[in-house]
Amino acid sequence: MDGSACVDVVVVGGGIVGAACAYYLCTAGLDVCLVERDFPASGASRSCDGLLLLCDKAPGPELALAQASLAAWAALAEELDCEYVQRGSIVVVENAESLEGNRRKAAALAAADVRCEELDNAGLRAVEPNLAPDLAGGFLYLDEAQVNPMRATVALLGAARRQGLQLRCGAEVTALRRAADGRVTGVVAGGAEIAAGAVVCAAGVWSEAVARTVGQALPVRPRKGHVLVTARAPGLIRRPLIEGSYAASVQSAAVGVQVALVAELTLSGTMLLGSSREFVGYDRAVSPAVIQAIAARAVRFIPGLAWVSVIRSYTGLRPWSPDHLPLIGPVEGLPGFYLATGHEGAGIGLAPITGQIVTDWVTEGVVSPVAAAVRPARFQV
Ligand SMILES: Cc1cc2nc3c(=O)[nH]c(=O)nc-3n(C[C@H](O)[C@H](O)[C@H](O)COP(=O)(O)OP(=O)(O)OC[C@H]3O[C@@H](n4cnc5c(N)ncnc54)[C@H](O)[C@@H]3O)c2cc1C
Repeated sequence: MDGSACVDVVVVGGGIVGAACAYYLCTAGLDVCLVERDFPASGASRSCDGLLLLCDKAPGPELALAQASLAAWAALAEELDCEYVQRGSIVVVENAESLEGNRRKAAALAAADVRCEELDNAGLRAVEPNLAPDLAGGFLYLDEAQVNPMRATVALLGAARRQGLQLRCGAEVTALRRAADGRVTGVVAGGAEIAAGAVVCAAGVWSEAVARTVGQALPVRPRKGHVLVTARAPGLIRRPLIEGSYAASVQSAAVGVQVALVAELTLSGTMLLGSSREFVGYDRAVSPAVIQAIAARAVRFIPGLAWVSVIRSYTGLRPWSPDHLPLIGPVEGLPGFYLATGHEGAGIGLAPITGQIVTDWVTEGVVSPVAAAVRPARFQV
């Protein structure tokens, strides 16, 4: 597409969220252009894990979104090559004092139809023989799954392109166009105008900068995380492991660095080890101290890792929102402008439901009750 163009919808950002929005908008029959300033999955969606978790979600809208999106991923996996694997995951608990809180959490989630089995020390070692022998127990969440985030982003974009998506990479959106009545009518990207009936901002932690071009402040902030990639270690773990304190570190608003183990086995046999959380602006430098803290936590739970090399490490910026719910839907006072951001550490899991909700808003379809809880209007005064 050259020069000025006109489409039904422009999606800003080619991460997993923008890709999912483009996929569902194209599936609904709309003429869509996705604009990405670098290349697909060049932001957080290439610097993360691919876990589709329920165990860290709070009952209510957050869990309902995650459950709907998990079901959508299972359906997408029939169509897309995204390395989807569904083998559950285990919340591992280090000591007896931490068991009760995790038991309460499992019971609250079970009341909302999340399947979970409690494991004692022997049960834990039966399903994961290479865990440290002295752990108090664990909780096996049976429905959880994983994808390869980069592959999934590219697969969603590929499927959308087969339905007519125009993909424009290497073009940064620098301004939004508005009509005299205030309606958002398009973008300026890479110096060219793209007129559109609607603009969806899915620019991750950079959504704030895009929204600011039309005077709209957003509460989304970057929350940095580190990941360590190990050499191939097939068999060391059988399914993703999540430390019992992980959900608390997600919900916390602490500024300083927090570390709670997350271990994921990829299809190639390497392991991804996390997780850390800290608010340090847009700084993406790798910190040796944080790497050491994650490695120490990982060896505590999986002692055999002491003999496995770390071959790579990277950081990513999660788009954090103050109430731990994403911002999805129309922006009050800016007709034609929609947000799809603020997913923090759950954007891979929540991408399909986000694309579905955005499509419902744009097509004026039936917007689900849970969509009301994530409307950006809750932060607008
Ligand atoms: C260490 C770590 C581990 C994680 N693990 C998980 C996990 O296991 N499961 C899970 O569900 N989530 C996980 N996440 C969270 C997940 O990565 C994010 O929520 C998700 O990737 C956000 O996707 P996005 O598309 O909103 O943003 P991004 O992937 O950051 O994409 C935004 C895109 O917008 C583009 N862009 C920005 N500004 C402009 C502009 N002006 N014009 C054009 N393009 C622009 C950027 O180049 C970028 O490609 C993790 C995150 C981190 C950091």
